[in-house]
Amino acid sequence: METKDKNPVYSNSDTSKVNLTEAEWKKALPEDVYHIAREKGTERAFTGKFWEHKEVGTYNCAACGNPLFTSDGKFESSCGWPSFFEPITKGSIIYAPDNTYGMSRTEVMCGRCKGHLGHVFEDGPPPTGLRYCINSVILDFSGGSAGAKTKEPEKKIEKKP
Ligand code: FE
Repeated sequence: METKDKNPVYSNSDTSKVNLTEAEWKKALPEDVYHIAREKGTERAFTGKFWEHKEVGTYNCAACGNPLFTSDGKFESSCGWPSFFEPITKGSIIYAPDNTYGMSRTEVMCGRCKGHLGHVFEDGPPPTGLRYCINSVILDFSGGSAGAKTKEPEKKIEKKP
C-alpha cells in the first residue's frame, strides 16, 4: 500500500514500542488514519470497510502494523463498526478509562504505538462477553490463514539422552 511507504515504523513483526512525535505521525500517516489514531476520532457507523467484512485473516494496526485481531475473534454486531470479542494476544492492546462526552467508557489503544483504536464494552458474546468496537480506518487486513493468530507455545518434547 502506497500510504505505508511514508511510514518508517510500519511492521507486522517488529514488536518494539513506537514513540513518534505528533509531527512525525502527521507525516507518516494518511489524514484519516492520523485523525483516528492520534486525535481519537471516530468514523461514522456503517461507513467503514470492515464492519461487514468476513474474510479469514489478520487485522493489523494501520498506524504501525502491529497485529491486533483475527477473523477468529470477530463477530457480527449491529453497531456498525468492526467488532471483536478478543484481541490476538493480551499485549496487543492497552486500555485507558475514557470519561469524555459524559460517558464512562474504556478506550482501547494499540499496544505498540498507542494509537487510538476504539472502545471495549461488556455486551459482547461468549466466551469473553466483550465487544471491542474498532474503527475500520485504523485496521489493515491481511488475508490468509487465521493461523496467523499467535498460538500458545508448544510444549518442548524432552529428548531422551
Ligand atoms: Fe499501532
